[in-house]
Amino acid sequence: MPVAWYFDEKDDIPLSVLRKAFDEGLMNNDIPKKYGGNEYGILEGAIMTEEIAAACPGLATSLFDNSLGMEPLILCANEVLKEKYLPKLLKEFKLICFATSEPVMGSDVAGIRCEAKRDGDDYILNGTKYWITNGGVADYISVFATADPKSGHEGICAFLVEKSWDGVSAGKTIPKLGQRCSNTVGLNFKNVRVPEENVLAPPGEGFLLAMKTFSRTRPVVGAFGVGGARSAMEYAIDYAKKRRAFGSKIGDFQAIQFKIAEMYQKVETARLLVWKAAWEADKGLDPTINASIAKFYATEKALEVVNEALQILGGYGYTKMFPLEKLFRDIRLLRIYEGTSEIQRMIVSGHAMYTYQPVMPSLEDLPIFREKDPLDPDTGGEIKPAWRCRMCGHIHHGQDPPEECPYCFFPQTTFKKIWPAEET
Ligand SMILES: Cc1cc2nc3c(=O)[nH]c(=O)nc-3n(C[C@H](O)[C@H](O)[C@H](O)COP(=O)(O)OP(=O)(O)OC[C@H]3O[C@@H](n4cnc5c(N)ncnc54)[C@H](O)[C@@H]3O)c2cc1C
Repeated sequence: MPVAWYFDEKDDIPLSVLRKAFDEGLMNNDIPKKYGGNEYGILEGAIMTEEIAAACPGLATSLFDNSLGMEPLILCANEVLKEKYLPKLLKEFKLICFATSEPVMGSDVAGIRCEAKRDGDDYILNGTKYWITNGGVADYISVFATADPKSGHEGICAFLVEKSWDGVSAGKTIPKLGQRCSNTVGLNFKNVRVPEENVLAPPGEGFLLAMKTFSRTRPVVGAFGVGGARSAMEYAIDYAKKRRAFGSKIGDFQAIQFKIAEMYQKVETARLLVWKAAWEADKGLDPTINASIAKFYATEKALEVVNEALQILGGYGYTKMFPLEKLFRDIRLLRIYEGTSEIQRMIVSGHAMYTYQPVMPSLEDLPIFREKDPLDPDTGGEIKPAWRCRMCGHIHHGQDPPEECPYCFFPQTTFKKIWPAEET
């Protein structure tokens, strides 16, 4: 923590801290036991990341980037590649980054333009990746490209590329609002020859590999938010207990206490969602939907918490002498990378609208009997069929539907028989 502001000011990645984290066993814990790793779950990753983000979300991004970069390798089917690189990542301090985004596309992964052309058994890569975290300092890159830019997601493929290979170059560090303790650059590929053994996903399988990766890494981005928000809340409580105004401590004002209650509530609920998605992933369930929910909920609530914490510190909150302004800048990024809040809403609404299985009957079939109890043992046997007007909801009891609805005047055909319930 003590070096965070220095590196933020310098706009530089604290590589010495990353190195120390590697030595202390805080990196690469996702590597399966089969390759010599600890095989920690996403849940353990989320718990560790929350603590690091509590000190500096930018450092958390830098550290966690190895998990993001190596997730396609862990998930891919290429055993030779795993045997070659995963043990190396355990033994030596190596950084691996993840590259889908480009100067002209980010959200629309199917719109990748970086091209991979087949040349015998090899591929030749040409194109530019942008916004690549750790790109300037990484040794390896999980690069997503396309075998045919016109074929959308069907052309997407992925490769593990070494930064030292001919034709790979990194651009200047992109100056950012926050998370300045993380390195962000563009990466250029000019006729880079990638041997077949470095294929993470052949054309047609890369898109799914990218999406599966995000499903497993998004909960942890939520954990960045939980950690940052928790610290902001703690700083605000500390300040509210000491600062005086109008003859009292500001923490004695209910307006401040309620802000703190809401901060606490947001931190706790965000963490629960993050852990739920992480648990699903660790249990081998499909975490996609809950990973998206955790990501957009936790990162948006984190920004609200940091904003209110800054408010509690008043003018001091706005200065660089207190930690809130950096947290505010750092946390702002979380709504953007690894799928913006808008993209997460698209994923969740798509599920809610089209694949979610409702428990309740459809509105047209709802048995709303206000005049009679259809299950009353004394009268139940005598209950006549019931018909529901599909327009206004009126229930008609009788052998047949009425000629027209007495409420909305729609014709007999508008009525649907809802009782006795059809056997399903
Ligand atoms: C500091 C930083 C680090 C990053 N690290 C990496 C990295 O390591 N690897 C990597 O590959 N990428 C990385 N990214 C890129 C990041 O993932 C993208 O910026 C992000 O996915 C958004 O893409 P974009 O910036 O191209 O915005 P666009 O996709 O152009 O979107 C612009 C705006 O339009 C909205 N939008 C787009 N489509 C829709 C839609 N269908 N409906 C509604 N709204 C929509 C978006 O939500 C956004 O608000 C990083 C970005 C930053 C800023």
